[in-house]
Amino acid sequence: MHVVVCGKVIPDSSVTLEIDPDAKRMRRTDVPHELDPAAASALEEALRLTEQHGGSVTFVTMGIPDASVGIRRALAMGASAAVHLLDDAFAGSDTLGTAKALAAAIRQQPRFDLVVCATESSDSYSGIVPVQVATLLGVPALTFAKQVFVDGETVTIHRQSEEGYAVVTAALPALVTTTSGINEPRYPQLKGIMAARKIEIQQRSAADLSLGPDDVGDSAARERVLSVGAPPSRGAGRLIHDEGDGGREIADFLAQAGVI
Ligand SMILES: Cc1cc2nc3c(=O)[nH]c(=O)nc-3n(C[C@H](O)[C@H](O)[C@H](O)COP(=O)(O)OP(=O)(O)OC[C@H]3O[C@@H](n4cnc5c(N)ncnc54)[C@H](O)[C@@H]3O)c2cc1C
Repeated sequence: MHVVVCGKVIPDSSVTLEIDPDAKRMRRTDVPHELDPAAASALEEALRLTEQHGGSVTFVTMGIPDASVGIRRALAMGASAAVHLLDDAFAGSDTLGTAKALAAAIRQQPRFDLVVCATESSDSYSGIVPVQVATLLGVPALTFAKQVFVDGETVTIHRQSEEGYAVVTAALPALVTTTSGINEPRYPQLKGIMAARKIEIQQRSAADLSLGPDDVGDSAARERVLSVGAPPSRGAGRLIHDEGDGGREIADFLAQAGVI
């Protein structure tokens, strides 16, 4: 079974994210990067599946040169190959542009049985890209998986819902998105870190993927960020001194707020 994991490499969690007021985008340059923890969980699930059923895992990311630190981490965890979609032509891509690039890179694989993505990334968390990728590849998307099972020609997930979970099955090839609590990603061991250094990261440009300015980059983006701003500051709380009627005052307050 060949599994492709799409994962983002994002600004390190220690970085206070800043938005460039002119570009209205996150400042990603000159900040330390890390493998998105959500992508690490998706990768962990793929590694467990191939350990159980045999096969290999290829990690694919689209990102700036700093993404290589996260790619090395994915290889050290156990991915056997990595593809880095790296080209100035990708800058400014919206979710559809990102999905087109990822889908084109997946199509270039000799074969794929399963694509695993995180349900949403930890920095932009729009939660749109995986289903776009599945649509472009023409494979079913099984989303919000809290457990994944592969059995011969099918994949089955437990799809998290507010009430519990639904059991969803599809024929392979398919795409699955994992929830963040699905597993505890492994910590890379020294052997894995050393082995990862010997693996060549395959770089792909937009031209390598036969994509042009109508597909990816700012010129192709149909999503536009119109404005960005800080959230309104929270007002002071209201303190109720209980002089015998505190319960009633709280109930009145909650009723006014429409909570009860
Ligand atoms: C107008 C516009 C311009 C933008 N310009 C830029 C820009 O210049 N540079 C930039 O970095 N971002 C840019 N973005 C943000 C970019 O669109 C998002 O980072 C990207 O589309 C993914 O969105 P997301 O993280 O919310 O995806 P989600 O849908 O939340 O991602 C879910 C999952 O899809 C997969 N996935 C998503 N993105 C990638 C990826 N890049 N590589 C591998 N797997 C992935 C992962 O499994 C991820 O966990 C721009 C957005 C807009 C609207």
